Amino acid sequence: MSFLNYRNYIPDLYINKITDLDFKQLYAEGYRLILTDLDNTLISYKETEPTPEIISFVRNLEAIGFEVFIISNSLKDRVSHFSSILGVDYVKFAKKPLKGGFKKAFKKLGHKYKKEEILYFGDQLMTDILGGKRMGLKTHLVKAIDRKTEKAVTRFNRFLEKIVLKRIYKKDRKAYDEKLKEYVLDVTRRD
Ligand SMILES: [Mg+2]
Repeated sequence: MSFLNYRNYIPDLYINKITDLDFKQLYAEGYRLILTDLDNTLISYKETEPTPEIISFVRNLEAIGFEVFIISNSLKDRVSHFSSILGVDYVKFAKKPLKGGFKKAFKKLGHKYKKEEILYFGDQLMTDILGGKRMGLKTHLVKAIDRKTEKAVTRFNRFLEKIVLKRIYKKDRKAYDEKLKEYVLDVTRRD
């Protein structure tokens, strides 16, 4: 049962911002698709449109050779609104951590990327990290842009997350220290 496997909640990397990585290097390593969550990963819940920083970030990724695709659990029009301004394709109401939304995304992308070519980004363990890891993707946990604006369901997920984090701490202290310790400190600081 992949939902019960604590390893599926350990991100490959925890980062401050999606813009922090060396994408030229990642392209050289063979990665081709940036698959990303929207809310609190690219913009906060307060914002409805891509910031100038996100627009230039995405244009830069495309210039390197990447394709960018948004996969959001939100069923709101803000996903299509945001994506169309940014000029990228999307799947909304993805139901992460279930696999259906990811499969829908791959279908929309014409199945042209292998899993080893995909980098996934999201701000939540229970949906993004679990979903990305279950799909076998390189999965990045991104520090939430603005936790204060999180919705009730997200807050509930954060509660479940604490239980998962305790389990990882017990089972694999090394992975916890390397990939989640900073995250826990950030979450505690903001609560
Ligand atoms: Mg999010």
